[in-house]
Amino acid sequence: MPDAPWSAHTPVVFDVPPPQLHISQHPLVRHKIALLREQGTEPKKFRELVRELTWLLGYEALADVRLDPLTVLTPLEETRGETLADRIGLIPILRAGLGMVDAMLELMPMAEVWHLGLFRDERTLRPVEYYNKLPDSRTVDVCLILDPMLATGGSATAAIDVLKRWGAVRIKLVNLIAAPEGVKAVTEAHPDVPIHTAALDRQLNERGYILPGLGDAGDRQFGTGGE
Ligand code: URA
Repeated sequence: MPDAPWSAHTPVVFDVPPPQLHISQHPLVRHKIALLREQGTEPKKFRELVRELTWLLGYEALADVRLDPLTVLTPLEETRGETLADRIGLIPILRAGLGMVDAMLELMPMAEVWHLGLFRDERTLRPVEYYNKLPDSRTVDVCLILDPMLATGGSATAAIDVLKRWGAVRIKLVNLIAAPEGVKAVTEAHPDVPIHTAALDRQLNERGYILPGLGDAGDRQFGTGGE
């Protein structure tokens, strides 16, 4: 087996984080991300926290979506209101991104969900696409890629490549924890894609896990970590 590509890498340290990176400063986010990291947080609680953090990050990530004017009839009189003009697509990266979908759908019940399956080859740490349910032509205006962990950036970059080939123009990445290595990879390959995250961690370990991180986000949501 070849050496893991991250075994000898020099950690990425930003003097100034890239402008595309938005790290939530909200106290609720900071409170909940600490609970999420805690190794004693069992899968049920972990899933609840993923859901709550996704609401909060989704709220921030959608701050610039477009609105159309609308007339509303209240019980007392007519008034002016607004309605979302942008059609939103949610693209969860299987499998860990699945836990973020329901929360986003609660915020935007009209969003479309397109599944993209990319697994990480454990030897090369490179993404391999095994499932792609994108429709033939673009049906949404804003694509939110959902993945709790931005580690090497391989899956995120591959997902963005796929979406751009599909015709997506406005793409955002929503993560719970990002590693500097992943942020660097994505911002270099796709400087037009904003990254919304709850935390920017220190570095990757030799197996491509984020430090301090939270372990394997899929295993922790779905209880598959074993002993
Ligand atoms: N994927 C995870 O689930 N955790 C990490 O730390 C890195 C990638």
